[in-house]
Amino acid sequence: MTLTLTAELTERCDRCGAAGKVRAFLPAGGDLTFCGHHAHSHTDTIRTSADWVVIETGFSWGAI
Ligand SMILES: [Zn+2]
Repeated sequence: MTLTLTAELTERCDRCGAAGKVRAFLPAGGDLTFCGHHAHSHTDTIRTSADWVVIETGFSWGAI
């Protein structure tokens, strides 16, 4: 899994519509955006299924 930092994610969380903090790109195509709450609750899923993850700078995520 590749991690990239970005100054600001403009996407909204796909699950609740809050400001996105983590965007996960899937090997099969497509991507999912997670707010802080949902990034934390789906950490294991993101780590095992995404091949590229973009994280907003300053967001503290347990996966890294
Ligand atoms: Zn959310």
